[in-house]
Amino acid sequence: MSDFDNNRPVTVRFAPSPTGRIHIGNVRTALYNWLFAKKYDGQFVLRFDDTDKARSKTEFADAIAEDLAWLGINPDVVAWQSKRFDAYDEAAEKLKAAGLLYPCYESGEELDRRRKLRLARRLPPVYDRDALRLTAQDRETLEKEGRQPHWRFLLPNFADTPFDTRRTEIHWDDVVRGPQTVDLASMSDPVLIREDGTYLYTLPSVVDDIEMGVSHVIRGDDHVTNTGAQISLFHALGSTAPSFGHHNLLTTISGEGLSKRSNALSIGSLHAEGFEPMAVNSLAVLIGTSHSVEAMVSMAALLEVFTPDFASRSAAKFDPAELTNLNSNLVHALDFEAVAHRLQAMGIGSDGAEAFWLAVRKNTGFVKDAKRWWDIIENGPEAGEPLDGDDLAFVREAFSQLPAEPWDDTTWSTWTNLVKAQSGRKGRALFMPLRIALTGLRSGPELADLLPLIGRAKTLDRQP
Ligand code: GLU
Repeated sequence: MSDFDNNRPVTVRFAPSPTGRIHIGNVRTALYNWLFAKKYDGQFVLRFDDTDKARSKTEFADAIAEDLAWLGINPDVVAWQSKRFDAYDEAAEKLKAAGLLYPCYESGEELDRRRKLRLARRLPPVYDRDALRLTAQDRETLEKEGRQPHWRFLLPNFADTPFDTRRTEIHWDDVVRGPQTVDLASMSDPVLIREDGTYLYTLPSVVDDIEMGVSHVIRGDDHVTNTGAQISLFHALGSTAPSFGHHNLLTTISGEGLSKRSNALSIGSLHAEGFEPMAVNSLAVLIGTSHSVEAMVSMAALLEVFTPDFASRSAAKFDPAELTNLNSNLVHALDFEAVAHRLQAMGIGSDGAEAFWLAVRKNTGFVKDAKRWWDIIENGPEAGEPLDGDDLAFVREAFSQLPAEPWDDTTWSTWTNLVKAQSGRKGRALFMPLRIALTGLRSGPELADLLPLIGRAKTLDRQP
């Protein structure tokens, strides 16, 4: 990991909260940032949003870093928000002193009741800033009653008095969605500090973005409205706002949001199941964009087609079957070097391993499927496909005509030409009984490739 470099103009960050394993939707955000950084020779910060001490766990942070590394995302800098409370306290004090962060005492139920009342009166359901009317004495009384304040940021959406808001447009040119506008008068002053004194992510995030020189905040489009308030917060803290980009989110097939709780779709479980990282990366980036979903063989290949504004506006449905498909396409073309160590770990490490892989790869959806073919070659055909009457007699006869060694990739045609002439069989009637006798299966790799891998002695053992 290199040190942070202030001279690089593009700095992005991926800010997961370490409260679970990341899923393909989180990876979409991570990759949009990663590819953006690569495209502009920028740096990528992994920033753990772990201010919620109760729910954040080091194990999850470690697992997130591991998952990202497996996918090929290696941060230039790793930061932890839980180590930066002093900076957030300082920013909070600064805002309080400027009258921009004010204490509120309403309970959740109270706020809910008021929201409903406003809706019934056809007023926008925003917070009415009642707490700004409290005197010092009122506050003291409330606190004596045991109430603790939560703190809201006063949005700059008024001219003379905060009780008379007016349309205040915030504009930005979103790197994904193009020109955006939100009206600050249509939203409530955001709560920055909870009743128990803990920070919501908004203030720490802005403080860190300023301090780390984040140039582009790229994240899911569930944050579009927040961005209006956050841009004001950047200004309130005396800084210019970075650029923003909001990509569409992924949902399940039935349209529900992906959640860190749905462990089945976690990157950890996809890794354990044997998916190729580039299958995950290709789908995570290309789904829901104007580019077709294809298996990209490397991050460099993905980078060539990536442009943040190719994401569509609507949510994209994540279909695990599509991932399986991409995985097969990648595995079918993997070089031996890419799989050698994995084959070795499965006990496939002999001299013939390369020829073996090249023979079977088109018949594997996952690299781990190669083991099945290795077992067939080494240990004999799988049981279950009986040969009947004529076929049995034909196979017995054919096995007695096996060519002498040495065997190579011409042996199969030499052998089958011979038995074809003798038996008068051709096509399927000729090949299928031999395939079944050799492998126990009705389909599989080219027999011309398998035969020399099995070798004469082990072939003869298969004579029925
Ligand atoms: N932890 C926040 C989230 O995952 C970060 C949002 C942001 O990137 O600003 O939603």
